Amino acid sequence: MQHVKRKALIWLRNDLRLEDHYAFHNAAKKCERIVAYYAFDPKQFIVIPWGFKKTGKFRFQFLIETLKQLKEELAKKNISIIIECQSPEIGIPKWIDTMGITDFYFQKEWTHEEQNVSNRLRSKLSDDVLVHSFYDQFLFHPEDIPVEVENIPEVFTIFRKQCEKNCKVRHCHPEISCFPKENILNQDFKIPALADYGFEDIKLHPNSAFPFKGGCKAGRDRLNKYFWETKKLTYYKQTRNGLIGKDYSSKLSAWLANGSISARQIYWEVMKYEKEIKKNQSTYWMIFELIWRDYFKYISLKHGDKIFQLEGILTKKYNWITDKSKLYSWINGTTSEPFVNANMIEIKKTGWMSNRGRQNVASFFARELLMDWRIGAAYFESQLIDYDVHSNYGNWMYVSGVGNDPRDRKFDISWQAQKYDSQYKFQNLWLK
Ligand code: FAD
Repeated sequence: MQHVKRKALIWLRNDLRLEDHYAFHNAAKKCERIVAYYAFDPKQFIVIPWGFKKTGKFRFQFLIETLKQLKEELAKKNISIIIECQSPEIGIPKWIDTMGITDFYFQKEWTHEEQNVSNRLRSKLSDDVLVHSFYDQFLFHPEDIPVEVENIPEVFTIFRKQCEKNCKVRHCHPEISCFPKENILNQDFKIPALADYGFEDIKLHPNSAFPFKGGCKAGRDRLNKYFWETKKLTYYKQTRNGLIGKDYSSKLSAWLANGSISARQIYWEVMKYEKEIKKNQSTYWMIFELIWRDYFKYISLKHGDKIFQLEGILTKKYNWITDKSKLYSWINGTTSEPFVNANMIEIKKTGWMSNRGRQNVASFFARELLMDWRIGAAYFESQLIDYDVHSNYGNWMYVSGVGNDPRDRKFDISWQAQKYDSQYKFQNLWLK
């Protein structure tokens, strides 16, 4: 029998790394040739009816920096990356045909838009192509958790305790070896620039709490700084509600969101830190927060499109309004609450906001202004460097009273400002 040369195409979306990557690891074992593929899907750059782009300039900048580093990392292994500015469901089938791809790999995404794209794409592939899709974005792998997805508890603590007791985090996939030179394509693909998408150049704001660049190397550097060099991890639980500067929390969310670092990599680094430096409540809390991240992924896996519906997963009815002038006073930081305003100006100018800030501005938007919470979530989607569909919509539902908060709470904004910004340092930073 004639030996069939196996050629893999790896479609990258929110898994923009080479290390600890299921597809690269498995395809490298199985296939003689590998090529990676990334699409800047025009659907992600439309202007939505509320007047802003679905993907804003800060996240876009972080994304192009991420791709630049990934391209370099791949080149070291003699792997090319095809980069196109078109829908992947149009681009990929053509490459599969022309290159004679035998194996097609991609990380499973289950939210509405992402699933539509993969369904359309799969329907265009010939039956001869072997399709490998997999979950690689979780801390606790879906095959390892002790409950079926449809029975995921609606209360985080129950889920966390079940997983902590009965589930182990998998080890990272080992580094792959280098492919022969013939694996490199003789075409080089350009990464678009900000101007190609109508964005102006971004100058880092001097007050930014997120002065970092995208890319797996930058993510690894941040982790090394926060954990090993400055040992801030030892104090994380005391500082995590902070508002100013780069070190009150890890800031790893942005790399996690586009997959340039994996939750497993962070987990195993915390384990190493606990062994070699210090194990305390703060080191545990980093894992605790990573479990929150997983939890929102499982909630969206369980509830599907409900996470985008007004009544949320609780199917709870409130009288929501949609008022453009209220929306823009929130966006521009001109509401009656200075603490909300300071946070909103921060996100507008930098693409970043602390967790404490996010909770307050979201609560104000949904519970005080009574605005349709999905508009606020859509603004975060556009603006946040670390936008992640599950964490964003999950947290917004939670704060808006249609999600997983067993207590029906509304933040007392002046009390919060007094507690977390008693000297007005944060408010003065953005309002003066
Ligand atoms: P750290 O405090 O250092 O935590 C470590 C990691 O744990 C984070 O990187 C993140 O992956 C995870 N984590 C921490 N808190 C949460 C949380 N509440 N929910 C889920 N995961 C968490 N996070 C996003 O990554 N993307 C979003 O789009 C997003 N939208 C949000 C919207 C609202 C309304 C709110 C209230 C929170 C949102 N969060 C979102 C969660 C949280 O604010 C950020 O993950 C956190 O501020 C990121 O900073 P960090 O990496 O320094 O976090």
